[in-house]
Amino acid sequence: MPGRTTSHRWAARTLFIAGVLATITQADTVAEPYPDMPSIAPIGERIGKYIDIPPAARGPAVDPAKGYRLQDLGDGLYMVTDNIYQSMFLVYDQGVVVVDAPPNYASLIPRAIAEVSRQPVTHVIYSHSHVDHIGGVTALGGKPVIIAQQETLRLLKRAADSNRPLPGITFVDRYTLRLGGKVLELSYHGDGHEPGNIFIYAPQQRVLMVIDIVFPGWMPWRRFAVAHDVPGYFEQVELIRGLPWTTLVGGHVARTGTHADVDLQSEFMRDIKQAAATALANTRPGVGMNPLDAGNPWAGYDNYIDRVAADCVNAITAKWSKLLAAFDVYAWDQCYSMEQSLRID
Ligand SMILES: [Zn+2]
Repeated sequence: MPGRTTSHRWAARTLFIAGVLATITQADTVAEPYPDMPSIAPIGERIGKYIDIPPAARGPAVDPAKGYRLQDLGDGLYMVTDNIYQSMFLVYDQGVVVVDAPPNYASLIPRAIAEVSRQPVTHVIYSHSHVDHIGGVTALGGKPVIIAQQETLRLLKRAADSNRPLPGITFVDRYTLRLGGKVLELSYHGDGHEPGNIFIYAPQQRVLMVIDIVFPGWMPWRRFAVAHDVPGYFEQVELIRGLPWTTLVGGHVARTGTHADVDLQSEFMRDIKQAAATALANTRPGVGMNPLDAGNPWAGYDNYIDRVAADCVNAITAKWSKLLAAFDVYAWDQCYSMEQSLRID
């Protein structure tokens, strides 16, 4: 396993530090504070080579000369991607609606549109307020009507970022955009990623776009894609799972998603929740602590939570390290996030 060398290096250093402490305290209990360390490298540890990406996580290649890939989703709807970020546009008889403009490639979106239409961009939909998904919107040119959920407006007012102009149309629960016979249904289902993050559904194409929740073929980005509310994040994965779409645009990775992808992520989340719950139930606080730290409750919790996370990573590694791309990159992050949510939410 790629992480194994690292783990040994990490363990060697721990033993060295522990050895110093043992000399000071003469206490054998601090010789190895974290037994059974996972083969997956812990946070902050550099490793020589991460686990290879499974074929199922790969998507069609991006033409390096173009810098983006255009995917026809049917009936005037297209995905644009650099195989890291994903956005969409919908062509109707008198214009184009753009959904998100990631700064990574937003300057290329007009070129992508020009491949299939000569119409101007008349509308922009913000999926949510995060700059990495909408901060390239000014590269689209013109003065499009911008639509977003009202929480997104609040967050963008606070951000006061000239690269993210404020939406002119906002809604609370639902908004349907009908233009020249084409339809986009926008809906808000609460804080699954951050307040204001919406579902964008194209009923004619059976395409659902929800950003930063499901990562087809991949481990979610660190700490469940920095979800503000982990139980809310879990609920939205299940909500997406139950809706009648055919193609999912998740905002990241190299391909669109299927129901099988959402089922797999849901299964992973059930497993990690169980692993963290078991680790919390089986781990005793205070074990292996240096007696000199007895008056430091923060250190006691740090030690306890580290051991819970290690137990959690160990429990999920055998099954998931080859099923989800980048399992090794964020396994520790997800376990820390999961155990924390189970303790306090
Ligand atoms: Zn985001």
